[in-house]
Amino acid sequence: MTSVLTQEILGVFDKVFPNVKRPIPLHEPIFKGKEWDYLKECLDTGYVSSVGKFVDKFERDLEAFTGSKHAIACVNGTAALQVAYQLVGVKAGDEVLVPTLTFVGTANAVSHCGAIPHFIDSEEFTFGLDAKRLQTYLEDIALVKNGICTNKKTGRRIAALVGVHIFGHPFSVDEVSQLCERFHIPFVEDCAEALGSYYKGKHTGNFAKVSTLSFNGNKVLTTGGGGALLTNDSELAKRAKHLTTTAKRAHAWEFMHDYVAYNFRLPNINAALGVAQLEQLVGNLRNKRALSERYKGAFQKLSGLKFVEEPSHGKSNYWLNAIVLNKEHSHLRDEVLEQLHEKGIQARPAWVAMHQLPMYGENPRMDLHVAEDLVKRIVNIPSSANL
Ligand SMILES: *Cc1c(COP(=O)(O)O)cnc(C)c1O
Repeated sequence: MTSVLTQEILGVFDKVFPNVKRPIPLHEPIFKGKEWDYLKECLDTGYVSSVGKFVDKFERDLEAFTGSKHAIACVNGTAALQVAYQLVGVKAGDEVLVPTLTFVGTANAVSHCGAIPHFIDSEEFTFGLDAKRLQTYLEDIALVKNGICTNKKTGRRIAALVGVHIFGHPFSVDEVSQLCERFHIPFVEDCAEALGSYYKGKHTGNFAKVSTLSFNGNKVLTTGGGGALLTNDSELAKRAKHLTTTAKRAHAWEFMHDYVAYNFRLPNINAALGVAQLEQLVGNLRNKRALSERYKGAFQKLSGLKFVEEPSHGKSNYWLNAIVLNKEHSHLRDEVLEQLHEKGIQARPAWVAMHQLPMYGENPRMDLHVAEDLVKRIVNIPSSANL
């Protein structure tokens, strides 16, 4: 027997999408602008790879949109994170504070630096970092000496903290960045899900030393695959470009590289897609917001769950809409997911928490009960801008 709550949830989708063809994907890219024109231009001119005008244009357009002084395009969001951690000084053997509730890329990029993800908990409302509990935790485990923060328990340096704007909802940036300042921990913002999200009126990605974006196929803007680094520090921006482009010194013909760097360049053909996508972003964000309003209206009549809304301190891009089942209904999550799929509604749970993945099972951590509990209750629901 299907529970009453699950039936009510199914009813919401009948009401919100009466005439939409099933299956309804979770998040679909939309190409209704100049994508074809710009891609054709790449093919016609032969500039499909690491050289071409679209990379430059995409970076300048991203700067204009986010208000960040510098944007450096990159092959994907995970690679951008790896470079971001290195730019703020993360080295092999260091620890980096990472929320356990995030996509695996946030943590893997730490491991790719040879460093160790140290998992921290989320707060119930934004799903972002809980600054209050993190403060108590750091007061217990952190030792700051000569501007260096060390984990007293492991003896390792805590070299960075990364905050993630989960599903596009801005976390409590001020509280987290103040804590980072107090403990001398460099702060990185993972804005992979937050292009078009604002904290206190300013675009996300402008608060940390370095921030990152992702343009994977399921994000609000896609380049097929891609990412970017954002920074307001011109010196860091130069190093970011150098590190992501094989550390080649500018020269007409000579191959002179001065550092063991990466080929993390975004190909011109992907950037072309990005330029066209960015031209339509404002409209797509407007549509996503309208969809979230419809969801909100329909879900607020139900008492067994909460529809996730943007926090009062900011504006969300509503990348992925979510409902959170009340605690007493957490056992119904899988039934809800199964029934939705059966009806052609693509829904999915939140990620498995990082500390519950096999490769991160033994990593250092604080008490993570809030994230553990949230993971059991979150259901992401269709969020495409064309719905
Ligand atoms: C998508 C995503 C990434 C990584 O992006 P890729 O471009 O897929 O490498 C990193 N962090 C978060 C929170 C993401 O959602």
